[in-house]
Amino acid sequence: MIVGIDLGGTKIEACLFDDDLMPLVRRRIATPIASFDDMIDGLVDQYHWACAQAGTQDLKLGIGVPGFVEKGTGRLLATNLPGTDKSLPQVLEQRLNAAIATENDCKCFALSEANGGAGDGAETVFGLILGTGCGGGVCLNGRLVRGLAGLPGEIGHLGIPVSFAERLPVLICKCGRVGCYETLVSGPGLRILGQSIAGLDIPAEEIAARAAAGEPRPAAALALWSELVCELLLTIQASIDPDQIVLGGGLSKIPDITSILDSQMQKTLMQGLPLPQLSVARFGDASGVRGAAMLHALNLTSATRKI
Ligand SMILES: [Zn+2]
Repeated sequence: MIVGIDLGGTKIEACLFDDDLMPLVRRRIATPIASFDDMIDGLVDQYHWACAQAGTQDLKLGIGVPGFVEKGTGRLLATNLPGTDKSLPQVLEQRLNAAIATENDCKCFALSEANGGAGDGAETVFGLILGTGCGGGVCLNGRLVRGLAGLPGEIGHLGIPVSFAERLPVLICKCGRVGCYETLVSGPGLRILGQSIAGLDIPAEEIAARAAAGEPRPAAALALWSELVCELLLTIQASIDPDQIVLGGGLSKIPDITSILDSQMQKTLMQGLPLPQLSVARFGDASGVRGAAMLHALNLTSATRKI
């Protein structure tokens, strides 16, 4: 058995998996964010709970984090979690006496969907999260492409092209840059498009539902969002040219999302070339925690990166 944990800004989800990565039991707790030590206590509590469920105290642990574990120092770099100079993997290994693997949560998602998920069997898979933020990960033959600093797939912080400048609000991103894709293709971004284009201050899900019902103003907001997402898919096509793009996050649950984007892809992506196949995550919200557990199953622990 293996323990997977998805560490988020609001909740810590733990799941115990069998050796075939089938989920056995899961539990969510609120993330203690008052301090780094409190957050570690939450992770330790979840790990001990999973071990108790398994009836053993000696399980490997994989953790997906909403940011990066810095190469070399092991510091957690995440804007919505408490920071510290301490090494997250080292502190946890000392507390738990267990093998710890950490990886960016979008990378965990991509790994899960490339192995047994919607992208299973494809040579190159791009996992794209469109949720509270926007991020991704790249897998080649089922293995994560890590790059120098773990950045491949971190496309939410690329800039929206100037060709959109007159049609869109230009916003400051959480990363500090101006005009990142994440500011408008994420769930909060679609809401802002609804305000800006349609004069409607309603959640992204409602924009999608009212667009599907034929209301013109929400449909216009959703169409512009779709255009922007496909511009981002063009960047993915031009830089990585994946066989499969697997969508995850809250916006992947928009009804008919693949057909909405497929028709726009025909206009935006490079013409006369095979287009990547677009699909929705097979494991849904559970894909991140499954990918975290998989870090061990595929022998892809952070230890191999000499943290
Ligand atoms: Zn940004």
